[in-house]
Amino acid sequence: MMGENAVSSNGDTTAAEALRRDIRVNTNATEAKLDQAALRELEESFRGQLVRRENPTYDEHRRVWNGSIDRFPALIARCAGVADVIAVVRFARKAGLPVAIRGGGHSFPGLSVCDGGIVIDLGPMKGIRVDPEARTARAQAGVLWGELDRETQAFGLATTGGIVTHTGVAGLTLGGGIGWLQRKHGLTIDQLLGMDLVTAEGDLVKASESENPDLFWGLRGGGGNFGIVTEFEFRLHPVGPIVFAGPIFWPLEKAPDLLRFYREWSAEAPDELMTIVVQRKAPPLSFVPAELHGKPVVSVACCYAGPVDEGEKVVRPLKAFASPVLDLCEPKPYVVHQAMFDASFPHDWWYYMRACDVAELSDEVIDIAVEHALQIRSPLTAFPIWQLGGAVARVAEEETAFNGRGAGHTFNITGMTATVEGFDAEREWVRNFWSALEPHHTSVYVNFLMDEGQGRVREAYGSEKYDRLQALKRQYDPDNFFRLNQNIPPN
Ligand SMILES: Cc1cc2nc3c(=O)[nH]c(=O)nc-3n(C[C@H](O)[C@H](O)[C@H](O)COP(=O)(O)OP(=O)(O)OC[C@H]3O[C@@H](n4cnc5c(N)ncnc54)[C@H](O)[C@@H]3O)c2cc1C
Repeated sequence: MMGENAVSSNGDTTAAEALRRDIRVNTNATEAKLDQAALRELEESFRGQLVRRENPTYDEHRRVWNGSIDRFPALIARCAGVADVIAVVRFARKAGLPVAIRGGGHSFPGLSVCDGGIVIDLGPMKGIRVDPEARTARAQAGVLWGELDRETQAFGLATTGGIVTHTGVAGLTLGGGIGWLQRKHGLTIDQLLGMDLVTAEGDLVKASESENPDLFWGLRGGGGNFGIVTEFEFRLHPVGPIVFAGPIFWPLEKAPDLLRFYREWSAEAPDELMTIVVQRKAPPLSFVPAELHGKPVVSVACCYAGPVDEGEKVVRPLKAFASPVLDLCEPKPYVVHQAMFDASFPHDWWYYMRACDVAELSDEVIDIAVEHALQIRSPLTAFPIWQLGGAVARVAEEETAFNGRGAGHTFNITGMTATVEGFDAEREWVRNFWSALEPHHTSVYVNFLMDEGQGRVREAYGSEKYDRLQALKRQYDPDNFFRLNQNIPPN
């Protein structure tokens, strides 16, 4: 398993290629290990689709969002419902094969696909049920954020969700969930009322404040370590449907002054306001004037989760600062705003990312950020700095397994290329940038980890929570059946 993760994590092409070749050879051996009689038995009752290497859709289904990940599972089990999930868990256990769990397929290090094992693909499980009266929504494990927002916004409701519509609800929620509504309403996990989970034994259990509360605690940040969540129930809040939102751009040379102004202005802002700073070369998108394309810019994207006129007032001082070159912050449908970053993070590009939280945007942190922004080569590379605080920080640390609620900002240092070309250089830039920030690191969001080793997973949770999660792991998955994840081994 270590080898597989090593491939995805550092994307080191030469070493990774050699390793992949080895794994492919082993994969053939693993194929042979698939018990054909057991497979036929599984096939007879399976309601979804079992995709093997000879199937014409195999390549389509083994691909994940990050194009730098290229793995060859022995079997992809595309589950249609809970019964399929239970059946394939029992099958995999008997076969002794590793399993990778796939929700939306957006794990940065590609943890939702494996070489030689079984991918339990929850993608076809798309059920969503909104109760507008109770302001709750149930979503199955294959739902993507754009799909959930579409259903909840039909009633002017929403829950804190990811900022790219094609990201999976499942993986994002289980790590914590940050998004435009977090400062007003809290993390995605803070909206959870309950979950259904298939255990490593293939049993269905419930987790909520009243049923298996320890498991409920661990699932709110502990990722895929305890089993396969087949359905989530979320609390919803009135949002929009029109919100005051969007990005405002300045030339990158204004970033040192702008970010110092932003620091003071955003610290005073009400919880309704959530912002993300992005530094990059301006993308050649239709709403960006041609003369800006490829020019280094800094932008502050805003979303005001409250009345539009209030939002306009709150954002006004930012708009007035140092003559922006482009201002797209205006009233718009929440679902349109939610799709704003889709074009900047499409499937199949090559991505390498390192992340960290910082307590504040000190002068030194700002200077490091701007220095590295000026070094960006790839026209695709972008690094968001998320504003935290507000309702995120008001939930006590011990309430959930998620760690780092007190952080001020999260850096998402993402190197991006369209193909392998130039990828090494971007990865190098990411690592240098991340290292330069090291003296300022506080915590790290587990969903923004690459494959950085056991020590880093422990760091992400902090020792106390890690020990508690490990005890829970011993209870729910003592054999570490679910280990292709940001793993918390039982011992
Ligand atoms: C383009 C992009 C945008 C993002 N935006 C945000 C954002 O706005 N906010 C944020 O918080 N994060 C964001 N992330 C990070 C995101 O939370 C993680 O990448 C997350 O793992 C994605 O979930 P997924 O279901 O798509 O991933 P997958 O790759 O399918 O799953 C990732 C891991 O989650 C676990 N998992 C998935 N489904 C289940 C399940 N049903 N039961 C148990 N375990 C499961 C497994 O361990 C799996 O390996 C973003 C990532 C990308 C690539």
